[in-house]
Amino acid sequence: MFGPLVSKPGSSRNNKTGSWRAGLKPKFLRKNCIACKMCLLVCPEDCIRGEGKNTYDCDYAYCKGCGGCVKVCPKADIVMVKEEENSK
Ligand code: SF4
Ligand code: SF4
Repeated sequence: MFGPLVSKPGSSRNNKTGSWRAGLKPKFLRKNCIACKMCLLVCPEDCIRGEGKNTYDCDYAYCKGCGGCVKVCPKADIVMVKEEENSK
C-alpha cells in the first residue's frame, strides 16, 4: 500500500536505517555551528533537523553513519564517535 510513495527522496524514512551503522555515529557538538544547513542538505537519510545556530542534531533511528554531514560541515562542528554499547 506504500507503492506510490517509495520513489520519493528520503523514502528510507519508512525504513529505519539506524541499524546499518558500523560502529560510528555523528556527534553534533553545537559549539561553532553557523546554521548553514549543509549537513541537513547532504544527509541521504534526511534525518537532520535544526532551527538555528547550534541546534542541529540527527535522529539516530535513521542515521546510517555515512559521515557525509561530518565531511561537509564548514565549522568542523560534527565529529564521528564510537557507538555506545547500549545505544544500538
Ligand atoms: S552520518 Fe550524517 S549525513 Fe550520514 S546519515 Fe547520519 S546524519 Fe545523515
Ligand atoms: S554543516 Fe555544520 S555549521 Fe552547517 S548547519 Fe550543519 S552543524 Fe551547523
